[in-house]
Amino acid sequence: MHLKSLTIKGFKSFAEPTTLQFEPGVTCVVGPNGSGKSNVVDALAWVMGEQGAKSLRGGSMEDVIFAGTQSRGPLGRAEVSLTIDNSDGVLPIDYSEVTISRTLFRNGSSEYAINRESARLLDVQELLSDTGLGREMHVIVGQGQLDRVLYASADDRRRFIEEAAGITKHRRRKEKTVRKLEAMDGNLTRLQDLVNEIR
Ligand code: ATP
Repeated sequence: MHLKSLTIKGFKSFAEPTTLQFEPGVTCVVGPNGSGKSNVVDALAWVMGEQGAKSLRGGSMEDVIFAGTQSRGPLGRAEVSLTIDNSDGVLPIDYSEVTISRTLFRNGSSEYAINRESARLLDVQELLSDTGLGREMHVIVGQGQLDRVLYASADDRRRFIEEAAGITKHRRRKEKTVRKLEAMDGNLTRLQDLVNEIR
């Protein structure tokens, strides 16, 4: 599995549709200060479901939409699409190429799609969760973030490791199942009360 291409439109400094092609191996993005290198990384995190505006270096999520420059007005929406080569089948989906898209409108509404089919954030997270690209997004290490991992508390470090090992997904499912079992226990108790009353 490797990232094949990233298309950015109306996201941060990328007003014009811009596509970056990635080959297997290392890709370097070079450019002067403030030219948008980190915005490319933000776009990657965002399309994979990043929910924290702060992680994207903004105050609110709408800050990712191109805000305009002296020569160009602001845009009404941000769109990012990431195409992943899945010929080795690492992603649990029957396609050798998977495109994840995310769109955010100024009114706050947002859309996700997987291979152009409308999807939920949860679908994107589930699709990526066994790859280490899940909710915690530890695979994207931003400037200064190495320090965060090195100085993290034991609990936080455990969360990083669990996410990397793909355990978090199972923990979430377990929590959901435990909640269902508790609800079921409540129902059984109520049922037992009714049976006792009828006797
Ligand atoms: P450095 O090397 O200093 O880290 P960089 O190449 O990583 O810089 P970025 O931080 O990616 O640069 O880009 C910063 C630029 O993006 C700034 O010029 C900023 O004005 C612009 N920018 C960020 N958000 C928006 C937005 N919503 N609309 C328009 N431009 C934006």
